[in-house]
Amino acid sequence: MSPARAVLERTFGYSTFRGQQAEIIQTIIDGGDALVLMPTGGGKSLCYQIPAMVREGTGVVISPLIALMQDQVDALAAVGARAAFLNSTQSTDERQQVEAVFLAGELDLLYLAPERLRVPATLDLLDRGTIALFAIDEAHCVSQWGHDFRPDYLQLSVLHERWPTVPRIALTATATEATRREIAERLDLVDAGQFVSSFDRPNIQYRIEAKSQPMQQLLSLIRTEHNGDAGIVYCLSRSSVEKAAEFLVENGIPALPYHAGLDARVRASNQNRFLREDGMVMVATIAFGMGIDKPDVRFVAHLDLPKSVEGYYQETGRAGRDGLPATAWLAYGLQDVVQQRRMIEQSEGTDAHRRNLGAHLDAMLGLCETVHCRRSRLLAYFGETSGPCGNCDTCLSPPEAWDGTIPAQKLLSTIVRLWRERQQRFGAGHIIDILIGKTTPRVSQQGHDSVATFGIGQDVSEQEWRGVVRQLLAQDLLAINRDGFGTLVITEGSARVLDGSHRVMLRREAPKRSRAAKRAVAAELPGEALELFEALREWRAGEAREQNVPAYVVFGDATLRGVATIRPTTLEELAEISGIGEKKLEQYGEALLAVVASA
Ligand code: ADP
Ligand code: ZN
Repeated sequence: MSPARAVLERTFGYSTFRGQQAEIIQTIIDGGDALVLMPTGGGKSLCYQIPAMVREGTGVVISPLIALMQDQVDALAAVGARAAFLNSTQSTDERQQVEAVFLAGELDLLYLAPERLRVPATLDLLDRGTIALFAIDEAHCVSQWGHDFRPDYLQLSVLHERWPTVPRIALTATATEATRREIAERLDLVDAGQFVSSFDRPNIQYRIEAKSQPMQQLLSLIRTEHNGDAGIVYCLSRSSVEKAAEFLVENGIPALPYHAGLDARVRASNQNRFLREDGMVMVATIAFGMGIDKPDVRFVAHLDLPKSVEGYYQETGRAGRDGLPATAWLAYGLQDVVQQRRMIEQSEGTDAHRRNLGAHLDAMLGLCETVHCRRSRLLAYFGETSGPCGNCDTCLSPPEAWDGTIPAQKLLSTIVRLWRERQQRFGAGHIIDILIGKTTPRVSQQGHDSVATFGIGQDVSEQEWRGVVRQLLAQDLLAINRDGFGTLVITEGSARVLDGSHRVMLRREAPKRSRAAKRAVAAELPGEALELFEALREWRAGEAREQNVPAYVVFGDATLRGVATIRPTTLEELAEISGIGEKKLEQYGEALLAVVASA
């Protein structure tokens, strides 16, 4: 058996490498460099952890995520690896202790914040020890055009200049070709082996639905499919984060808020609880999430439309890192489109900048309104081609496409009339009131019940009308005026709809399928196994609390599922289960067998 396989089996308790892991690991063990692009949950950590254990000396891992270093080190200690970190949160004493073990050659892995490399003492320290490899995690942070740029990453070129013979591995889950080239150039990895995996996350089910009562929709998603599961709910604003978190708590779902307006201590404590407690829901702005490697996040929900497909993919990618079934759910409505178009129109900066924002939004809307497979659309965005996936809402219950040309003409001509005849512009709500013939106080006051199109749209429900407006906006057949009031105006494309030369195809939402009230992970477990799985989770929660580590540091859901299904009665049988290596077998073996025996 190769040394790498031996570590995989004995230390991590896994029987096979995943994807390109074996090749990448061998490249580094042989002293080569590697640039690794793998989706979240693809298994990047093993790509540097195993070579660090096989090669002589310590693997030095550069990571920007200081708050998560303790958990990473704990997870390694739990499998019997020797790991430590150096960052600004430590006292001088603690740092000196770590330095001493490093110099004594007793560390497999040392995590460093990038800013420590600015300190000459750190470079001297590294000079005095033996370095097995450098791993540069979240390597996209070196890209100045990316959204996570960190100036400290620019100086990572020092690693190659100062230690030219030490192999380096840069890892990221960020996809675009341009970013990849920039990473290779800035980190001097142009000649390195490039390992690019598919970005598909087959275990994530993508679903996008029309927003009607978003909080109720979210609650129903959690209650029917994700009761007791950990999840992340993304909102656009701080106030909606607060509101949604309160709403969930009032309805008995354990939830915490996270946004940049909260005190740093509160943020840290909420993040900590999310990582440590089972079944916690984090309601957050996009300020939350980078580097969160909690493997058992079972759902990521968006209550507002993300601004770009990249952002959406990165956020949803935080679900299901353990490879078990997970849900990416988004509710979006007319208001989202109006609001974002308005924000873009009013944003500072050049026209080119606004066009860029508009193009991002258009791509996102295209994803929302597609009648084709969501996943193939997402992957196509990142340059991959694929067929229908069978695990997204459009594949599972294909929406009907319908000819919306006539409703579109009714709507557009109402807008045109109000402008031509009265120089008036209105938002979607009022225009829809006119179409369905609703005599609201405003309609009467404005005398709009005498407009020729008053009441001509009664064959379409109010809810459907909102869908029509939303989709016309998404297709650029209708626009939001730049006046900042969200009023509707026609576009160049509208004319062709009005004269009948452009047919408008719209998506009709498929009727909701009723779903069993089961947790996704437990979904295919038969009754008795399900009971045992719950018992094992309970035991794990106690263990994790006692040691003050996240539950997944004890065992991941995938491992507990394995135990629940196989029901081992001996340590040998237990050792066969994925995720149980030598150290964990020794530490927890008897306890696990006892839980199995008593359940
Ligand atoms: P990434 O950093 O790429 O997001 P991780 O390194 O955190 O992903 O791995 C995701 C999950 O997959 C972890 O729970 C990890 O233990 C597990 N994993 C990684 N490689 C393997 C493997 N070869 N066999 C089984 N599980 C694996
Ligand atoms: Zn699909």
